[in-house]
Order: sequence, then structure tokens, then C-alpha cells
Amino acid sequence: MSESIYARLQQALPSIREWIAQFVADHRENGVQLSALAEPALLRCFPVEVLAGTTVVALPEVRFPPVGEFGLPEFAQMAEMPLAGITFDTTFFVKAGAQSQSLYFHETVHVVQWEHLGFDRFLLTYAANMIGREYVQNPLEAIAYSLQGEFEAGKLSGSPVDRIQTSASSAWSSVSEFFPS
Ligand SMILES: [Zn+2]
Repeated sequence: MSESIYARLQQALPSIREWIAQFVADHRENGVQLSALAEPALLRCFPVEVLAGTTVVALPEVRFPPVGEFGLPEFAQMAEMPLAGITFDTTFFVKAGAQSQSLYFHETVHVVQWEHLGFDRFLLTYAANMIGREYVQNPLEAIAYSLQGEFEAGKLSGSPVDRIQTSASSAWSSVSEFFPS
């Protein structure tokens, strides 16, 4: 019998980490500090350290890491899905032409999640919450889309950071039993 998807996820972590580090390094020279792109409405939402510590890179196409190649065929189809943006730790990639304050807001929610959970725990939480769900039902996406809607409608009052951190912790708690170490 083959190993559980959770065990394979954990085994794939070093490869995914390495792929992300290389991808970020390959595009670093094209990065722009988020604080240079953010307009006042966005600047008001996040601490200055987050905005100054986040790098934005525009690319012709944005995709998930090729997780199908890392012993996770269950995610191979998802990895082909074209995206408007994706966040890796403190760098996010956006599709050229799709840039907007709203998209930057969404990806900054993910930056806060990465920082709160830590690198490996973010990846495990994100991937484990994809199993049996649609992409938008992943709680790490659901909160990002929900807050993005409030941001677009001008209904976001105060900083969303606490809400992002609380929901990220509960997304991790809902799957942490599958990763005993
Ligand atoms: Zn997202």
C-alpha cells in the first residue's frame, strides 16, 4: 500500500522549499518593494514592516509549484491552474496586466499567513486544506477572498492582521493531527 498523502506531503517539503527558493532567487532582480506600489488605502491595512518587507514580481504567467513532480500526483491538475497571483513567503508574483491594489491586498494576506505559520507549516496547512476541497474553499484562500471583498468595498475597518492570524491558526489546527512530528 502506498503512503498516505500527508506522509508524502511532509516528504516533499524539502523539494518544494528548494524549488521556491530557486524560483524566488531567479526573479529577485525584477522585484519591486510593495510599499512603492501600494496606494494609501492599502498602506493603511498592513504594518509598514510587512509592506516594506514584501517584494512584488510581475510575470507573464503565474502558477503553483510543480507539485505533481514531487510525489504528489493528486495536486498535478491544480498546479496547472492559471493564477492571477501567488505568494511565496515574503515575495509575491502577479500576472502582468492583472496588477491591482485589490490583488496586492489578497497576496499580502498570504504574506501575513506565511509569516504567522512559518514556511513549512504554511505549506502543509495550504496543501492539506486543498484535499477534497475546491481552491476557494481552502480556509487560507477563503479569508483572503473575504477580506479582499471588504477591502474593495471600502468596508474594512482597522487592520485585518489579527483576523488573518486567527484564521491561519485555526486552518493549521484543523489539519495538524495529520503531521504528528
Ligand atoms: Zn490566494
